[in-house]
Amino acid sequence: MAKLIDGKLISSQIKDELKAEVEELKAKGVTPCLAVIQVGNDPASCVYVNNKKKACAYIGIESLSFELEEQISQEELLTIIDELNHNEMVNGILVQLPLPKHIDENTVIHAIAPEKDVDGFHPETVGNMCIGSKGFLPCTPAGVIQLLKRSNIDIEGKECVVIGRSNIVGKPMAMLLLRENGTVTITHSRTKDLKEITKRADILIAAIGKPKFVTAEYVKEGAVVVDVGIHRNENNKLCGDVDFDDVVGKVSAITPVPGGVGPMTIAMLMNNCVETVRQ
Ligand code: NAP
Repeated sequence: MAKLIDGKLISSQIKDELKAEVEELKAKGVTPCLAVIQVGNDPASCVYVNNKKKACAYIGIESLSFELEEQISQEELLTIIDELNHNEMVNGILVQLPLPKHIDENTVIHAIAPEKDVDGFHPETVGNMCIGSKGFLPCTPAGVIQLLKRSNIDIEGKECVVIGRSNIVGKPMAMLLLRENGTVTITHSRTKDLKEITKRADILIAAIGKPKFVTAEYVKEGAVVVDVGIHRNENNKLCGDVDFDDVVGKVSAITPVPGGVGPMTIAMLMNNCVETVRQ
């Protein structure tokens, strides 16, 4: 019987730990402050931004909200980011992605001061992660590592296979597994014999962006499967990159969608916000 890795429970535990830590910091006169910038009214972005603000309020992190018009120019957005970079009251800056097409995401990511880059996307932050230096970790992959650790799943020496190589999930996921001494293989859309590779995995991470792509034939008996994907199916129900019902009978542990990796992303963002003021 597969163990269900409960991201809802683990993320609540992390948020409660952070809340206690923030209370202690406040007693010493320190309150972390996150600036959240949203451009336009994309419905999914509105939900994500609201959830981030709610998590800040729960933990005791101050949040400043910048709701900017869809038509704002790149220059104007960069000016706001520059002001926040220099504002000593602001510890973290988050720009909700995706941005409208006339704004270059990379330019915006580069503009955020690395010491305030709580999403962990700035090249300097990424570089620090790769060489194992101190710094923010990207939230979704860091959340996966916490899910594994807090479920007592050892990574050291394990065959870890990541499906997907995006800058936000796949690549940093592979780096963090490597930092935990996993033996890591990254696969992508040009990988040959994908099933043969995924079937070697003790720990399989699916970050493909294709609903229910990973079926039982991709998975080794007794493997641990982590599903990063989020999709809405034809009945408007959430599902992941893994065909949960097909795979669950074969694995030793698995994350559900919803309630797996999803809630961990915000918990790790909150951890990065607290990290900005940890002494
Ligand atoms: P992405 O940028 O679209 O990347 C998908 C990756 O999967 C690419 O590297 C692509 O390879 C690879 N891929 C596509 N088809 C494949 C195939 N047939 N075989 C092997 N590899 C294949 O997606 P992403 O941003 O990494 O996100 C992945 C999933 O995670 C999405 O469902 C997204 O919604 C979800 N997500 C969830 C969270 C969360 O908080 N839980 C956060 C971020 C993302 P190429 O590079 O060769 O194109």
